[in-house]
Amino acid sequence: MPLVIMSRKGVFALSASARLDTSPPVSDEVRTTTCYMCACRCGIKVHLTDGRIRYIEGNPDHPVNRGVLCAKGAAGIMQHYAPARLTKPLRRIGERGECAFQEIEWDEALATATQWLGRIRSTDPRRLAFFTGRDQSQALTGWWASQFGTPNYAAHGGFCSVNMAAGGMYTIGGSFWEFGEPDWDRTRYFMLFGCAEDHDSNPLKIGLGQLKGRGVKFVSINPVRTGYSAIADEWLGIRPGTDGLLVLALVHELLRAGKVDLDYLIRYTNAPWLVIQEPGAADDGLFVRDEAGRPVVFDRTAQALRPAGDPDVRPALKGEVTLPDGRRATPVFHLLAERYLAETYSPEAAAARTGIPAATIRRIAAELAHAAFDQAVALDVPWTDAWGRRHERMVGRPVSMHAMRGISAHANGFHTCRALHVLQILLGTIDAPGGFRYKPPYPKPIPPGPKPAGKAGEVAPGQPMAGPPLGFPTGPEDLLVEPDGTPRRIDKAFSWEAPLAAHGMLHTVIANACAGDPYPIDTLFMYMANMAWNSAMNTAGTIEMLTAKDPATGEYRIPRIIYSDAYFSEMVAYADLILPDTTYLERWDCISLLDRPISSADGPGDSIRQPVLPPDRDVRPFQDVLLDLGARLALPGMVEADGTASYPNGYADYLTYHERKPGIGPLAGWRGADGTGTGRGAPNPEQLQRYVEHGCFWRDELAPEARFYKHANRAYVDYAARMDFIERAEPIVLQLYSEELQKFRLAAEGHGAAQPPARHRERVRAYFDPLPFWYPPFEGTAGDEAAFPLHAITQRPAAMYHSWGSMNAWLRQIHGSNRLYLHRRRAGQLGLADDDWVWVTSRHGRIKAQIRLMDGVNPDTCWTWNAIGKRAGAWNLAPEAPEATKSFLLNHLIDELLPEREGGYRYANADPVTGQAAWYDLRVRIERAPAEAGLSAPQFAPLRPPASLPARPATSSYGQAFRRPR
Ligand code: SF4
Repeated sequence: MPLVIMSRKGVFALSASARLDTSPPVSDEVRTTTCYMCACRCGIKVHLTDGRIRYIEGNPDHPVNRGVLCAKGAAGIMQHYAPARLTKPLRRIGERGECAFQEIEWDEALATATQWLGRIRSTDPRRLAFFTGRDQSQALTGWWASQFGTPNYAAHGGFCSVNMAAGGMYTIGGSFWEFGEPDWDRTRYFMLFGCAEDHDSNPLKIGLGQLKGRGVKFVSINPVRTGYSAIADEWLGIRPGTDGLLVLALVHELLRAGKVDLDYLIRYTNAPWLVIQEPGAADDGLFVRDEAGRPVVFDRTAQALRPAGDPDVRPALKGEVTLPDGRRATPVFHLLAERYLAETYSPEAAAARTGIPAATIRRIAAELAHAAFDQAVALDVPWTDAWGRRHERMVGRPVSMHAMRGISAHANGFHTCRALHVLQILLGTIDAPGGFRYKPPYPKPIPPGPKPAGKAGEVAPGQPMAGPPLGFPTGPEDLLVEPDGTPRRIDKAFSWEAPLAAHGMLHTVIANACAGDPYPIDTLFMYMANMAWNSAMNTAGTIEMLTAKDPATGEYRIPRIIYSDAYFSEMVAYADLILPDTTYLERWDCISLLDRPISSADGPGDSIRQPVLPPDRDVRPFQDVLLDLGARLALPGMVEADGTASYPNGYADYLTYHERKPGIGPLAGWRGADGTGTGRGAPNPEQLQRYVEHGCFWRDELAPEARFYKHANRAYVDYAARMDFIERAEPIVLQLYSEELQKFRLAAEGHGAAQPPARHRERVRAYFDPLPFWYPPFEGTAGDEAAFPLHAITQRPAAMYHSWGSMNAWLRQIHGSNRLYLHRRRAGQLGLADDDWVWVTSRHGRIKAQIRLMDGVNPDTCWTWNAIGKRAGAWNLAPEAPEATKSFLLNHLIDELLPEREGGYRYANADPVTGQAAWYDLRVRIERAPAEAGLSAPQFAPLRPPASLPARPATSSYGQAFRRPR
């Protein structure tokens, strides 16, 4: 067949022999690995010529991206060769922020860190605060913290999307992204909440492409129409922070129309479980349980109480039951319907707050119902449920949803995320064909184990902790607080201030450490967390805290800061000891089932990074360094009985030989001495080699009968228990009503041994509602809404992952500066035109920015791209680079604390349930500013790159060496 080419000059037919070769060999070696230009973890092929990177392509065999590569992934070359790469360990010799560093050897760097950390461990391990950023080795870093003995550990989740994760884990035992995905092949209606160009990047693009090809309706709910919203069939430009109200208004409409899947609710959820209704009693709001502790339902046939989960029972979903002891009880569904059928959640009430017309809310609810109930899909796949009943087909409700930071980074985000899952449950879509599908190892029990370690008896000098620093509390007794309620963690996670802070609270560490609240620390040890710039609220204030000194001693309030990064980021300037990391193409790495793996709904998967090139600088992979420090400190598990290092070859050894429990290690593929084990098995010395031979990833396929209803599918729960995903092969019941939350509320009402201090009582009582509810974000209610009438939010662009692309010459050409985007009509009301300069003022601060007008934004909202603005000189950019002179950060406007309450106490600017940073609650006003020199504000003194960095090239370019002579 000839190849037909159509061009503006005509149509040409090429014979087979004359065909263009669109992918001629250009390299002398190709190595597979995993991209790390964002958090999506696509498979890539790195082409090398003469030991240098020629180009990067997507790996077509990889399950995450199937060959798709985004602009960031392709620009990995410029990340790898960036002139901002650190080259040698550094010790601070001037004041913090002066960038006066002395180059030192690794031996000295590691000896210094060992001395600092060893002293802490032998006296009070809590005086080490160890926090990481978008770290993909949390299974290692969390374990290291445990073995060190400090509870003061977390990664970046607390300021990213813990509401999304925790909201899901406390409701369905899973969530979106790494936890689950839409059934792209079968869904017939898709709703996307709060997602611009975000986590799960390439899979979402591939999935949306599929939906477009099948003509499936795609509705995007986002204050800003960029990224995915640009191709949505319908865009709802909602007011920030009101998504939960919209979702519950949809629930209101579905309940009113009787469009909920009652069979699904009875089989798979706690809808029929009886809830005690005895206001004021210690058991009010808890589930009725039988003598064996099982929740109880009311059997309509037998007119008697029966244990929940008995498949032969016809449980009541409404009405009131009088228990044998005289107490009254009501099914969960009854309470739920009562709440959401109330006028508070009517489309009219929601319209006034969300900006979405009531008629639109009604129509969307009707469309959801139509897709779910009139277009049900059925797969001819027989399966057996967890109670042993055989089903001939898998019937599903083809409605699916996805959400991310836009709905979770609010002070009401936890309940909003839970509300979204309640909506999916009511429609019967959770792990049903066409709906949301869990990715193994999810679903997990609700909530999953383990609980956070760090109670008084669990932290001792020279000892490891008994468990991990992060986990999922099930009641007040699991909090990490002193008897008087004082937080035991430096970030106040798992305290009465943020009881379910499952990912910790990185955003509060520096402020608390500087204030010595709840206690002073000795060393702040951080990895990949740019806290002196775009990863901090109140950036200028954070810089002040990093440099604040105790007037009595002249010492820094945070006495020591150790920092590891591959690049000269803003945070480097404020560290005392810098441990230079490699780029992602120079090290072993692991995307583990023990962490956040690359599974698909059809089977578990994990992957690795292999060193594509050796480092050409005096740098070391952070994970190797951490294990080396562990051995020097003689941390349990990191040294042998004779004192030698357990993992002398660093992370590669750890990945191969570490066992979390017998047979379970960081990697699930090719286990066992002969490499034939899957999931379980002894360490295999050849394991990494097998991964490299297989494209650096492993995956397993679930049997067809195990692929849906995983929470209640016999074949799946047996498989999951075999693989150690769950402890027992038992069904997981979806929790519309959360008894865990009610336990906290009861404590606030004065019941139980663990109760909140008076200061926190009302707050815990109000926000630990066992059913999701909507309340206005605090930034609006606590401040003067009239003085700050606009919402201000950021969006992540497709071509820049926060500050990760700051040093990347190719990506800088796409996003070298940012503007503040404003609705055309609103700008007109303010007398502003395109390109004008404005002051943007919040209750906390003021910045100066240049505006751009558009139509695709909620009229009460202004927005900008995230993390484009840079500190002059950082990332080895010229001080006059547009990132520093024209660009800006909204971070300067965001206070890390809420306004003072009665008694002077200031809560973190965060969700009261999980402590998630409420970035997107920011309120501002905008006024014209003089253009003057066209400089954004504030401007900071330029940072001076360490002398060991290469000189800044006037022009960054790459690839001339590969040009063929003409
Ligand atoms: S989405 Fe792009 S940057 Fe992110 S991992 Fe995939 S290819 Fe890399």
